[in-house]
Amino acid sequence: MASDHQSTLTTSLPISTNEDDLHSSALLPSPAPRKSPSSTLAFISLVITTAAAFSFLFFSSSKPPNPSPHSTAALSSRPLSKLHHPVVLIISSDGFRFGYQFKTDLPNINRLIRNGTEADLGLIPVFPTLTFPNHYSIVTGLYPPYHGIINNYFTDPISGDKFNMASHDPKWWLGDPLWETVSNHGLKASTYFWPGSEVRKGSWNCPTNYCMPYNESVPFEERVDALLSYFDMPSDEIPSFMTLYFEDPDHQGHQYGPDDVRITDAVVEIDALIGRLIRGMEERGVFQDVNIILLGDHGMVGTCDKRVIALDDLAEWVKIPKEWVQSYTPVLSIRPPPGYSTSEIVGKMNEGLGSGRVENGEFLRVFLKEDLPNRLHYSDSYRIPPIVGLVGEGFTVTQTRSTGQECGGAHGYDNAFFSMRTIFIAHGPRFARGRKVPSFENVQIYNMVTRILKIDGASNNGSVSFADTVVLPAHSN
Ligand SMILES: [Zn+2]
Repeated sequence: MASDHQSTLTTSLPISTNEDDLHSSALLPSPAPRKSPSSTLAFISLVITTAAAFSFLFFSSSKPPNPSPHSTAALSSRPLSKLHHPVVLIISSDGFRFGYQFKTDLPNINRLIRNGTEADLGLIPVFPTLTFPNHYSIVTGLYPPYHGIINNYFTDPISGDKFNMASHDPKWWLGDPLWETVSNHGLKASTYFWPGSEVRKGSWNCPTNYCMPYNESVPFEERVDALLSYFDMPSDEIPSFMTLYFEDPDHQGHQYGPDDVRITDAVVEIDALIGRLIRGMEERGVFQDVNIILLGDHGMVGTCDKRVIALDDLAEWVKIPKEWVQSYTPVLSIRPPPGYSTSEIVGKMNEGLGSGRVENGEFLRVFLKEDLPNRLHYSDSYRIPPIVGLVGEGFTVTQTRSTGQECGGAHGYDNAFFSMRTIFIAHGPRFARGRKVPSFENVQIYNMVTRILKIDGASNNGSVSFADTVVLPAHSN
């Protein structure tokens, strides 16, 4: 397989055993040229070429890339010095697009990169590249049809019930999220915000003091300090698995687009929070003992009103009433009432879009969900509406054509777009220092966490062997 993704084989730098031994820039990789598909014109061809590139990520049937050879000693994890059990902390910085880390100097994030393991060209989100589906894939190892959160908002076609981001009924949330897996094994977990964390499932009952009810007004510093306070507790009270969530820089990305200076400011702020966390852990003597995974849920791309596809413009071919549309953009989802032929509607829509007479029509392609490319893993759920449109990078679908000229940012597009990638930076005793691994999908993370915590996870879409290419083997004693 001679694609960009496959040619980026795992490379490892000389593995050091000491924090910051890799300060010398001679040992640092120069950032690889960041290739971004030339966006819109490459839309369809990208879909085809990346299908092959990503297919190796599905289940464990394909071979994961092997780490470069180094001595066994350099590849073993480091013993814990203060903690009595392994701890994994996953930090999500919402909408932290891959590449934001190069906007300016970020000393704390760079410290984690330098002394940890990084996905060289970023972490690949699941489709749709939206906040709730992705956060829940990270903690379940499942693609959205299997964990049930197929969009940030959707309607159950059988019950008619509506899911939204405040729905905590366990009927929506399938699979075993990590906090549930961890507590099923008699270990403690804590969640300082994460989609799904307030849902009571299995032996997880969202315990007070360990499971924070979502409140976006809690200052970020307060979240960091609350997390640090867990390390002041008696050893057996310290959670084995912890989450921490920041809404930024997603918020600024939507408002101003990914290239605005206010993104740089937001990223600097995230870096300062990471610095606060590192300092607090160092004061408690646990920084080198905690496995920290810093990631995002998805990237961000600039949008502008001139890049709009309006469904009303298709009226000459087929009328799509707004009542049929469950979501417009960047995932167009349509559920016509019973009695309509969905394949006929798809055919008519694509005929109009391809006619050359619909503005930006070439940047929307409509599918029966079962005909979507397999690599998207977006068909095997009754919750997914029967008609799904893939929207060109940076384009927006609306019902009627607007006259505004607003610009901002969005995500939710095809996960093959480089702009939808986010970061994966892992630091701690089970991660090699100064190591780069190829990009992978976030469904692989669940198995990494269960491997570190030495527990059996639920079955999932990640590959068991892939986790071994990122996580170091357990220390022998
Ligand atoms: Zn967002």
